[in-house]
Amino acid sequence: MDPARPPTIADAVRCLRQGGLVAFPTETVYGLGADALNPDAVELVFQTKGRPPANPLIVHAADPEMAQTCAAEWPRDATVLADAFWPGPLTLVVPRAPNLPARVTAEGPTVALRCPDHPVALDLIRAFGGPLVGPSANPSGDVSPTEADHVRRAFPPETVMVLDGGPCRGGIESTVVLLDGLTRKVLRPGLISAEQLAHALHRHVEPFSPAKAALPGPLASPGLLDRHYAPKAPAWRFSPDQWPDVLDRLLDEDGVAVVLTQSPRSLPSPHARIVMPTDARNYAARLYAALREADATGPAWIAVEWPPTGVESDPIWDAVGDRLRRATAPFE
Ligand code: AMP
Ligand code: MG
Repeated sequence: MDPARPPTIADAVRCLRQGGLVAFPTETVYGLGADALNPDAVELVFQTKGRPPANPLIVHAADPEMAQTCAAEWPRDATVLADAFWPGPLTLVVPRAPNLPARVTAEGPTVALRCPDHPVALDLIRAFGGPLVGPSANPSGDVSPTEADHVRRAFPPETVMVLDGGPCRGGIESTVVLLDGLTRKVLRPGLISAEQLAHALHRHVEPFSPAKAALPGPLASPGLLDRHYAPKAPAWRFSPDQWPDVLDRLLDEDGVAVVLTQSPRSLPSPHARIVMPTDARNYAARLYAALREADATGPAWIAVEWPPTGVESDPIWDAVGDRLRRATAPFE
């Protein structure tokens, strides 16, 4: 392959058939694709990402029929939700088929399945003719990639082939819902809310409960946080009423900070500001790119103003809040 020529779907399929890795765009973030039925390829995904083996992978299918080949059972709830939301940012967790490599599901009895709503992802899966694992295409713990360049900067071209589909329009990872026949429970919040799922199912869906938020007291440092979606610089989140304290620290401390804010606050020099969208959907689409832009300046620290979820009650704020809780520590 000519290294100057962008890879085609045919190049990508060849790479996947040889057990290689292909990053592909989805409507949420870029995925690190590999043949879901090839145990060595799956192993390579874990190694390349530095992903803890206990963290299972999401399997991407072109349609519900392909998804069902990975499931031992396909509950009625899965049919209803796939009809209502696929292709789209919804991952269904169902009992796994025995032919899947055990590493895909972290040895567990269930598999996470989704059908991504992106023409490049769908073309790739169809041309390959089988399901692909597709965790976010970033080293484990880092901010997820929402542009092809984010992936190219993270992995050498001989390790990961990158299909460029431009920026991802969703910007945060899919909603994950557990369907085990009895339970319907959101395991990870995303762009599709528990209320939307309940509406489609005509049944209660247990919303996501942020266990981290229930921890007593603020963590001493961002370094102590269960690092996920996290920038390299120490990152704090603050509420609008904490602004005077943030300002004090900006004035007192050496080094340059970057503040992500939705309000037109003026910052003392030499600190930098990134203005964030005020509506939840655009905020989510912008979040990871903004964290990367902040990090790229090599700041002493990053501060993120907690979005005014009270102003506009959009359930997408719950998903944004979840990612921010993992990316930052509370300002104190
Ligand atoms: P990522 O691929 O980086 O978006 O992360 C995939 C996430 O999907 C995991 O961290 C889990 O939260 C969730 N997940 C994947 N497989 C399962 C499963 N079998 N059961 C529960 N959650 C899962
Ligand atoms: Mg990830």
